[in-house]
Amino acid sequence: MEGKFIDIHNHTCGYANPDAVIRRAKDKCVSKILAVPFDYISLQKNAELAVRHPDTILLSAAVHPNRFEKKPYSRINRDFKMISRFVRDNRISAIGETGLHYTQYNAYGHVREWQEELFRKHLDLAEDIGRMVIVHSLGSFSQALRVLKDYKLTVILHYPLGSYPVSKKTRRLIKTSVERGYYFSIAPKDRFGNLEEVSHLVAREVPKNRLLVESDGPRRKKIEPAVVVKIVDKICHDMKVSEDEAKKILYTNAMKLLEKQI
Ligand SMILES: [Zn+2]
Repeated sequence: MEGKFIDIHNHTCGYANPDAVIRRAKDKCVSKILAVPFDYISLQKNAELAVRHPDTILLSAAVHPNRFEKKPYSRINRDFKMISRFVRDNRISAIGETGLHYTQYNAYGHVREWQEELFRKHLDLAEDIGRMVIVHSLGSFSQALRVLKDYKLTVILHYPLGSYPVSKKTRRLIKTSVERGYYFSIAPKDRFGNLEEVSHLVAREVPKNRLLVESDGPRRKKIEPAVVVKIVDKICHDMKVSEDEAKKILYTNAMKLLEKQI
């Protein structure tokens, strides 16, 4: 059977030996991996992997909003300009991850304003080239939804709720996202295989045709794309379908989305 799993969000060039990671993913029937960069350099590295693994690696392009922790805005803007050029000359499947990364370190000053400005630039670019967008929102789910309201885009909310406790507000934001037709991709928690309560909630309450799975690896625990196999196993009960049925649904959802990005 052609691929049973798709990892819709992985920072592939971040592994010490990405070729080996891709091979192990394929051994576990992960047939496609959307490679998400942090900046222009990692986009170029992912693009080299896509040349070596053209059937498996698909590209997403963006400057991650957490770059504001390390780089000045001028540098980030330069990266964004190079990325804008790249996506017009090369085949990519998505713009992302982009969004708002709120931490205690950027609660004051202009960083959050700059993040929103950069987020909007990415959304404008996605509209321009007709691609879906992968949205990161750490501690900023409602603010990200406010910005997204101004756009008509296919949106994947990547691990949208972080470690938020499940509150009434969280439920309301999930409902709004569902009403707008957004997709949700479910990631493992940093502690291997242990899903957040909120991921179970998403798997239970979001329509099945809007669910996706992702590794978001490597992160601290060197999580690999093959972890999506375990996520499917953990969420099929919430989806109220068999494991086989969940596999089929999640694979079809991702495949349909990717096929539209041509
Ligand atoms: Zn990520």
